[in-house]
Amino acid sequence: MRRPDDIRPGRPRGRLKSAVAPPGRISLARALSKFGVCSRKEAARWIAAGRVSVGGALARSADLWIDPRRDRVTVDGRVVGDDPERIVVAFHKPAGLLTTRVDPGERPTIYDALGTLGAWVFPVGRLDRETSGLLILTNDHRLGHRLTDPEHHVPKTYHARIAGVPEPGGLRALREGVTLPDGALTRPARVRLLGAARDGTSWIEIVLTEGRNRQVRRMCASIGHEVRELVRVAIGGLELGELRPGAWRRLEADEVDRLDGLRLPP
Ligand code: URA
Repeated sequence: MRRPDDIRPGRPRGRLKSAVAPPGRISLARALSKFGVCSRKEAARWIAAGRVSVGGALARSADLWIDPRRDRVTVDGRVVGDDPERIVVAFHKPAGLLTTRVDPGERPTIYDALGTLGAWVFPVGRLDRETSGLLILTNDHRLGHRLTDPEHHVPKTYHARIAGVPEPGGLRALREGVTLPDGALTRPARVRLLGAARDGTSWIEIVLTEGRNRQVRRMCASIGHEVRELVRVAIGGLELGELRPGAWRRLEADEVDRLDGLRLPP
């Protein structure tokens, strides 16, 4: 008798999940997340909704073992997988978009602005909804890991417009490390005052080598300055440059090579 979570029709290539992964196989949900198509949770929902097939047969279980290099996986009839062509895109995320694929509240996401890209890519790290600036998207999981792994300390440069003008002591505290409300001590950062505006705000530059949740906003709050505007202007040596808000461009091979080699000593 077929189990309800089996796949059908046709001859399934994958096997239902046993305790140990057969060599070269991973669960279907993990494969979809690895391909950058969606999160594992979303994958489970899509599979339950009958949107995913493996080898031409409808998949019924997120726990199905598949071979991600061999099995032909489709979502809504479209083939997904480890694209042999590496895609790396620089995107100028405008403020107001969520860095997620789907928002249950149906608020606009970065994918609404990336419509013309026409390839499966996932964002490397996140920017808050109200933060704008440089976001890298790729289908290369190794690159994504390298750029976000805390061990690699890839520098990310932010320009923040803050309320008031910080005292030298405040800037020093940001440089040396501040304790956030959750008790975390921030790593040393490069921080400088860029200038004061007539409206009583000022711009500061902060270069972080770690990526805590809402880190720049929380760091500035810890020295008594609210962030009014936040823009990420560079990741490693890759600069936002003249890219307009909402625009994206494919990176040149040499730019990708430089990202590949990115690593700062701790
Ligand atoms: N720090 C923040 O506070 N927000 C971001 O989006 C990125 C860094």
